[in-house]
Amino acid sequence: MLPYSDQKEKLNKIKSGKLSLKENIESFLQRIEENKKLNAFNFVLDNEAKADAERIEQKIKAGKAGRLAGMVIAVKDVLSIKDKPTTCSSDILRSFTSVYTATAVQKLIDEDAIIIGKTNCDEFAMGSSNENSAFGPVLNPIDNERVPGGSSGGSAAAVAAKLCDAALGSDTGGSIRQPASFCGVYGLKPTYGRISRYGLTAFASSFDTVGAFANNVYDLSILTEVMSGKDEKDSTSSDNKIPEITNNLTADDRKFRIGIAKEYFGKGLSSEIREENKKLIKKLADSGFEIIDITLPHSEYTIAAYYILTTAEASSNLARYDGVKYGHRTKEKAPLTEMYKASRSEGFGSEVKRRIMLGTYVLSHGYYDAYYIKAQKVRRLIKNDFDEAFNKVDIILTPTTPTTAFKLGEKSSDPLEMYLNDIFTTSANLAGIPGISIPIGKDSNGLPIGTQLLAKQFDELSLLQLSYFIEQKIFT
Ligand code: GLN
Repeated sequence: MLPYSDQKEKLNKIKSGKLSLKENIESFLQRIEENKKLNAFNFVLDNEAKADAERIEQKIKAGKAGRLAGMVIAVKDVLSIKDKPTTCSSDILRSFTSVYTATAVQKLIDEDAIIIGKTNCDEFAMGSSNENSAFGPVLNPIDNERVPGGSSGGSAAAVAAKLCDAALGSDTGGSIRQPASFCGVYGLKPTYGRISRYGLTAFASSFDTVGAFANNVYDLSILTEVMSGKDEKDSTSSDNKIPEITNNLTADDRKFRIGIAKEYFGKGLSSEIREENKKLIKKLADSGFEIIDITLPHSEYTIAAYYILTTAEASSNLARYDGVKYGHRTKEKAPLTEMYKASRSEGFGSEVKRRIMLGTYVLSHGYYDAYYIKAQKVRRLIKNDFDEAFNKVDIILTPTTPTTAFKLGEKSSDPLEMYLNDIFTTSANLAGIPGISIPIGKDSNGLPIGTQLLAKQFDELSLLQLSYFIEQKIFT
């Protein structure tokens, strides 16, 4: 649908005059307008994007442009861009303007990418369907009666509907991989610490990661490579060496050992998803990859541990929204503590309130040991499971989600049902390891099915190499 297959080809076409960046931006803006009902964007930076296109087109022609020159990127509305709103799709931040730019976004700008707007998401990135947004739900571009997944639903929908070349999201428990799977695009959650969190609104600080969505593995690789690296402004960012990914995207000479954990293929998994994943495993075996059965014995505790630990961290992180320092303040004339209460009650949506209450509960005296400390111990056991597995295999292959995209409203009245969507994705955040979701087929309703690949910490290269092999050699 786009007149190029990836950023490499786009750049070449602009250089040789076969593609006008100005027209490219205009056609994206027109598509955004035509697809307004998807509700993928919270706001569009049309004038800025047009001005950038002109400036960057000149740079490209002069041979002075960066690696991402002209790549059109949408940014989840939880990442800051100086002098632009960052709403987190919440009423409490509806009128908030960022005072600095997130490092991940700045790195894209420095390489001459064009930011086209901020995308809709679940409020404060809490959700699996994008139905928790103060700006209304996002529709899945493949079937408008269905959700795009969450919480980065707007980013996934924008990439799938070709409203941009790529998009940024955040992944605390699956918010990049699950919507990527529901919308049929590629999405990568990096190792914790690989990409700076500076300028990312905190949800659960020991789980949060920034990553990208794209329509192909090359674009995802170049974005991951550019955004990676130590940042003085985020003390949890890592100075672990950044591998050259885009120059090494050929899996031909690496026969990875691929692990299959029975815990990820058990009850509750849709039979069509199981079948498509099994077919892929068979094709990989036929291509010479070694397939090894492994076990991740603590998998059944991931959802419980995840929702105890992330709500605990969220309850602390969200304490800053008090009507004084940031965002919405109640109009009620009330004493200070009443003012805090009223501002928060008016500003937060119901899922955010549920998480703050759950988190406050598990941290409270008397429950702290029983829930919070216990969950921390479980987190360690889950991490140990992965360490052990990665002694035997290079990559673990699982389905990304237990079902394909569900209908709007289908799960919104039952939080537990909704949380179970994250059953295969939260483990990577508990263990801090990288994960990718890649599209591998469709179910009988024509809805995308995804496979998740997991690797050991800082091994994004293997994930992207195997994804590239699958994209180029298996699904050609
Ligand atoms: N769906 C998960 C949740 O609701 C994951 C969210 C995320 O990764 N930001 O917590």
